[in-house]
Amino acid sequence: MIDNFRDGDWRNERGAYLVHMVDDNQVDLATQLAISKGYVGRDLEEQIRYLASHTVRLFSHNEALPDPDNRLTLSKTNKDILGIPHPDVYYKLPEYTVKSCDHTRKVFKELIGLMHGTDEQWTPGYFPQDHPSGSTIMGTDPKDSVVDGHCRTHDHENLFIASSSVFSTVGTGNITLTVAALALRVADTLKKELLHA
Ligand SMILES: Cc1cc2nc3c(=O)[nH]c(=O)nc-3n(C[C@H](O)[C@H](O)[C@H](O)COP(=O)(O)OP(=O)(O)OC[C@H]3O[C@@H](n4cnc5c(N)ncnc54)[C@H](O)[C@@H]3O)c2cc1C
Repeated sequence: MIDNFRDGDWRNERGAYLVHMVDDNQVDLATQLAISKGYVGRDLEEQIRYLASHTVRLFSHNEALPDPDNRLTLSKTNKDILGIPHPDVYYKLPEYTVKSCDHTRKVFKELIGLMHGTDEQWTPGYFPQDHPSGSTIMGTDPKDSVVDGHCRTHDHENLFIASSSVFSTVGTGNITLTVAALALRVADTLKKELLHA
């Protein structure tokens, strides 16, 4: 991992990010590449072995800020079998994150150069970070948040949400440990309240 870009003065203009360099299984990619280069038979097998063990995957986790236009609402038309509305999702990549991704691409280019990389392949556009957050945002004001600092919903005193959905921003790191910490805090709150009920 490269974590030089997780904080700095530039964060007032563009988002932070974390770079992952992953040597995971690249046999699929290596096979496609070797076939596209015309290798067959034993040469193909050798090329696949060579390419698979000389390939590195780079990806990044880029920070996103809360944006009131990015939101979930309850669908008026689509419902599940129990009549629970499906979510309607509105999401536009914030400029702050786009600038961060542009910077990441430049750094990736530099890294590829430093490693004397060849046969580079880029994922077009943007790839989801897989850290869904912000649909029941945490805050002090019921006008612009769903839960308070203890994950208790402003609207229902006996309803708690211990989930990544309460995060107000998406940072550069994995999020599940923080969700676990929030869940432990909810458990403490419930225990205290039940003991004094
Ligand atoms: C592909 C992928 C890879 C990831 N990798 C990582 C990682 O490496 N590290 C990391 O920290 N995080 C990772 N994450 C993020 C992490 O998985 C999520 O942040 C975490 O699971 C969020 O937990 P949650 O409890 O908020 O939501 P969820 O885990 O989504 O739990 C919500 C639960 O509610 C249930 N549910 C939904 N609707 C209803 C309903 N109407 N009634 C009853 N139950 C319902 C769902 O079935 C589900 O079990 C990854 C996410 C994805 C998608």
